[in-house]
Amino acid sequence: MDWLLECSGCAQESDPEGLRTVCPRCGLPWLVRYPGRQHPLEHRAALAREQSPGGPAHGMWRYRPFLPLLPDETPVTLGEGNTPLLELDRIARELDVGRVWLKDESTNPTGSFKARGLAMAVTRAVGAGAMSFVIPTAGNAGVALAAYAARAGRPATVFAPATTPRTILAQIRTFGAELSLIDGHIGDCGRAARELSARTGAFDISTLREPYRIEGKKTLGLELAEQLGWTLPDAIIYPAGGGTGLIGMWRAFLELREAGWVQGPSPRLYAVQSTGCAPVVRAFESGAQSTEAWSEPWTVASGLRVPTPLGGALMLRAIRDTRGGAVAVTDQDLAQQALLVSRREGVDLSPEGGATFAAAVRLRAAGQLGPNDRVILFNTGAGWLYRDEQ
Ligand SMILES: *Cc1c(COP(=O)(O)O)cnc(C)c1O
Repeated sequence: MDWLLECSGCAQESDPEGLRTVCPRCGLPWLVRYPGRQHPLEHRAALAREQSPGGPAHGMWRYRPFLPLLPDETPVTLGEGNTPLLELDRIARELDVGRVWLKDESTNPTGSFKARGLAMAVTRAVGAGAMSFVIPTAGNAGVALAAYAARAGRPATVFAPATTPRTILAQIRTFGAELSLIDGHIGDCGRAARELSARTGAFDISTLREPYRIEGKKTLGLELAEQLGWTLPDAIIYPAGGGTGLIGMWRAFLELREAGWVQGPSPRLYAVQSTGCAPVVRAFESGAQSTEAWSEPWTVASGLRVPTPLGGALMLRAIRDTRGGAVAVTDQDLAQQALLVSRREGVDLSPEGGATFAAAVRLRAAGQLGPNDRVILFNTGAGWLYRDEQ
């Protein structure tokens, strides 16, 4: 393996061999580094000819020179990535900003961007000998694990809150996972998952408890840069729950700038959360270095209902390092924006996607988005997954 793991807390380095969880010394997530990899500009040009430097590949695997794959390794894939970047002229005019694009991740397999992280993590875990999986979820990660575990021929158990939208629960069952409903939030599901993992040896593939979901989410940033002709936007508004996408994009832009594939500063990263569960916003505003547990978390944007994110400190670093920010919007506001934008643009927005539009309005009013800014909004999942009507 030509990469290594570096602890996000104590910076200790470790060999990636075997099934890896968190840093044993501080219990914090590992980050992946690729000290020996070279990314000559010819490789960037080869991508444009649909010839991934590592051989023919589609979707997110086109970026395999930036991913933890062995030479010639075939990933566990359902065709994730290569999602549309849609320009929204009318919304740019209304917001009075330079340009606005929506990165529509709802077209991924299983209907959300969780596909990117789980395709990568399941690939690495199976490579290291995992025979079965377990995951705690606020919804979409459970659907994605169920599908990728099926694809890999491994059984999976999913712990989800009983309040998870019924359509999401139906999808988890459709892909054959063992589904357990928990009276509580994703943190309570996490405890149940760790207990099952200790008892049965099932690999716990929770957000940031293993090193590779971030690497899959990193392809969000790589793909955005390529779709913008290897330029970077000024600002990205991202609905943050566990934070893998935010942290992954931060890493992507660092690696692209190091390789000389893009120039200029990193986009400012803005996290949006619901006022019903906003630990990152609260920590950002108080100047704290890490998040504190949010009590009685509730939001209809289930992907944002993460009261104690393990990656809290990393999210805060990504936001501050890029001179971004964090903003909370009400459930009413995010739901209304999701409906409005779905009707106006024909994109099926999830509540989390709606939150990025609600945040854009707030950030523009506060002067954090400027009149010439090139802004990316995210629809992280499909709206139909949240609708239970028959
Ligand atoms: C999981 C999820 C999020 C939050 O993503 P993180 O990377 O965990 O911050 C946002 N939107 C949707 C639709 C999700 O499923």
